[in-house]
Amino acid sequence: MSSIAIVWHRRDLRVHDNPALWQASRTGGQVLAVFIVDPTIVERDDTAPARIYFLRESVLELQKAYRTIGGRLAVRVGEPVQQLVALAQAVGAGAVYFNDDIEPYARERDARAAEALRAAGITVHACAEILLHPAGEVLTAAGGKPYTVYTPFWRQWSAKPKPKPFPTPERLEAPTVEEQSFPELAQLGRPFAGELLVSPGEQSGLEQLEAFAREGLYRYGERRDLPGCDGTSRLSAHLKFGTVGIRAVWARTMDAWKQAEHDRDRAGLAVWQQELGWREFYKYELFHLPQLAGRPFRREFENFQWDEDQERFERWCQGETGYPIVDAAMRQLNTVSWMHNRLRMIVASFLTKDLLLPYGWGERYFMQKLVDGDLSANNGGWQWAASVGTDPKPLRIFNPSTQAGRYDPKAVFIRRWLPELEGVDTALLVTSERLPPLMRAQHRYAQPIVEHKRQQQVFKERYRAVRAQQADPGAR
Ligand code: FAD
Repeated sequence: MSSIAIVWHRRDLRVHDNPALWQASRTGGQVLAVFIVDPTIVERDDTAPARIYFLRESVLELQKAYRTIGGRLAVRVGEPVQQLVALAQAVGAGAVYFNDDIEPYARERDARAAEALRAAGITVHACAEILLHPAGEVLTAAGGKPYTVYTPFWRQWSAKPKPKPFPTPERLEAPTVEEQSFPELAQLGRPFAGELLVSPGEQSGLEQLEAFAREGLYRYGERRDLPGCDGTSRLSAHLKFGTVGIRAVWARTMDAWKQAEHDRDRAGLAVWQQELGWREFYKYELFHLPQLAGRPFRREFENFQWDEDQERFERWCQGETGYPIVDAAMRQLNTVSWMHNRLRMIVASFLTKDLLLPYGWGERYFMQKLVDGDLSANNGGWQWAASVGTDPKPLRIFNPSTQAGRYDPKAVFIRRWLPELEGVDTALLVTSERLPPLMRAQHRYAQPIVEHKRQQQVFKERYRAVRAQQADPGAR
């Protein structure tokens, strides 16, 4: 049997903490890494150009990382299964290693790949990687079923001993093969000229993790909800593309735990670990319930009466709703392809409960823009905000003014993103209702698109109507 092993990279763009690479390197034979640019993903209308940029830069860096340890990363473009099998046959590989994914498209692709490789006489090794605990390992004690509520999931998940990071191979030997490069973005028809708050690539991911672990982690609990300061890790794009490994991230938090001097430091750190728990929970849910990608968890909400108002949607997208906190957030998204978590919740609540627009519209727009756009986290976040998801306390309606007053009390964030409101009093900026029409006109700022109080009532009525229908299905 051939001693050449292929490592197929997808969203694990790193050499550290990479189980597929580590296991392939342990065979003792030659190792060839490959990344296949999949036109189905690149061309999708909801694939943000920022993500393709991040992906490309990270793959280019990974090529260099391989070279420094004697390895080689080939890049191919085309239908992934065909490309993979063709490459494996061309180099005479005996085995293919890859890390798992939980998304429906990826699982279907991987199943096809495994079948085609086996048919060609090539061994397939699918490694558990994307989650700290594989989705089948966290189940209810009674009945062994998947959890659909975060808190009991977290209780079991957090009590489990966490796996250690995989070592980085020191030296590889690679077969001779033409590497090729990742096509230019313009060639792919997806140019990107925007700015990002994060730099792509494994090196930057690790540096960012280190900087956050030293400076921000202990204070995360008190600062994470304040969009005016850099209180969160901004590791989301790195976690999305696997330029940092999740076991390495967890291990770093445990080192920080040991180094903490005060209980309050550990408390801040524990809050951040819970966020990693949310990342895991939404992936776990999508693994067990792939249908969530296309419909609400609470099925009765398929009948919810959303307004399909394109004009209102356009104003929301452009940050012209007349609610400063919402508009500032949308402009942040449109400019740097990222939005603070508190603001994601505020704008998602506003889209669904003030504008009464279908949550799927907002979900899609986020995917078209976010550098960290990730099906499971995004879908989970939108279903949560629209009160149609797994949340056991579903009816939450955010008042944009209360949110702004609490989380951006000095309007630091609002002023940063709405320069046209320069010079306006803080109290008027955070309490949208108090910003007078004349002043809005003078500052060329939008009049409020809707009245929050009224829309809240309409939403509640429609929400009750769905619940009533559910209680009395004969009335449908
Ligand atoms: P930190 O606060 O430092 O958190 C650390 C990591 O934990 C994040 O990088 C992320 O991987 C994970 N995480 C944190 N909060 C959540 C959460 N609520 N759900 C799942 N994982 C979480 N996150 C994405 O990665 N991609 C998305 O497409 C996405 N869409 C969202 C849409 C909505 C409507 C909402 C409410 C949230 C969404 N989130 C998404 C979750 C969260 O907003 C981002 O992960 C976070 O803002 C990223 O910034 P950070 O890395 O500084 O996060």
